[in-house]
Amino acid sequence: MKILKLPKTNFKLFMEGLQNYGEVHVPKRKSNQSFVFGPMENTSEIAMDYLRTINPPKKYFFKPKDTLFNFSSTKGFTEVIEDSDKKIVLFGLHPCDIHGLKILDIVFGTNYPDKYYFARRKNVVVIGLSCMPDDKCFCRSMGTDATEDGFDLFLSELKSSYLLTVGSSIGDDISTDFKHLLAEVSKKDTNEYLKIRKERKNRFTLSLDTSDLPYILELQRESEVWEELGKKCLCCGSCSMVCPTCSCFNVYDIQNLITDSGERVRQWDSCLFKDYAVVAGGHNFRVNRADRVRNRYYDKQNGFVSQYGKPSCTGCGRCIQYCPTKIHVVEVFNKVRGEA
Ligand code: SF4
Ligand code: SF4
Repeated sequence: MKILKLPKTNFKLFMEGLQNYGEVHVPKRKSNQSFVFGPMENTSEIAMDYLRTINPPKKYFFKPKDTLFNFSSTKGFTEVIEDSDKKIVLFGLHPCDIHGLKILDIVFGTNYPDKYYFARRKNVVVIGLSCMPDDKCFCRSMGTDATEDGFDLFLSELKSSYLLTVGSSIGDDISTDFKHLLAEVSKKDTNEYLKIRKERKNRFTLSLDTSDLPYILELQRESEVWEELGKKCLCCGSCSMVCPTCSCFNVYDIQNLITDSGERVRQWDSCLFKDYAVVAGGHNFRVNRADRVRNRYYDKQNGFVSQYGKPSCTGCGRCIQYCPTKIHVVEVFNKVRGEA
């Protein structure tokens, strides 16, 4: 692993130079407390102090609405993979969101690799950025507060510079191209990094006890907690949409009866929506809101663990921030444990 130093005085030149590697996308302020990833028009609009964007980076690879192919009675099927050749430099991902992408890589890469997802994934340079947690972050409990892989470059902020970690061969190419902007890491930098690291560790105020959680969930399938939660949850799907690892989708056709043609579309869906589990014949496997909300919690902390050996929650806090009825994922699991 190669670690160099980028003085803050060179940051603007660094960001402008990244445009040689693709369209640079950065976190930008949308309103006072809201941030989004979007194309960089100017380096001054990069929200270096952002903590979480509304939509996670999954939108670049697993698009909210995606045409899979066109069809017509005369031409047959024509495959469409939008943006498959578009080079993007995605700057500013915090460690939890990098872990989110690593989880999606498993979801879309196991058994039946999803060519739409990976056609875009291979073209994106990922540049991580360090952060300081707020009262909604519990990534430390989920083991996603730091990452040693899943990025091409990673910037850890110090007072007047960034430590720049190289995580891939493309990251190495970029660091070589920008060597005139970079310097060696000094002992003083290392000490400063260790001090900030300690401060960050002490800033976490929210934690989730994940020890034996899948086991407790197995025992608590019929707990009254789920009925109570079902009364409070609107099943609006907001938590699914903002979640970096939720990947439910619906597939449908849009047909033009006049031209005898159409397109097949994949669109984000949510297991919290009432018709998500409807099958042929009209039977619904999860007709009650309590069943649906329980299903989501079990998928994150029980089902994914059984299947892939780790939970599919990164502790990013988005579902806490954007739930209209203030349902708090950590409080729910504490109740399931009988500790709240
Ligand atoms: S955001 Fe809140 S109310 Fe909406 S589905 Fe999720 S838990 Fe339920
Ligand atoms: S469940 Fe909530 S905290 Fe966990 S990854 Fe999804 S949005 Fe983030």
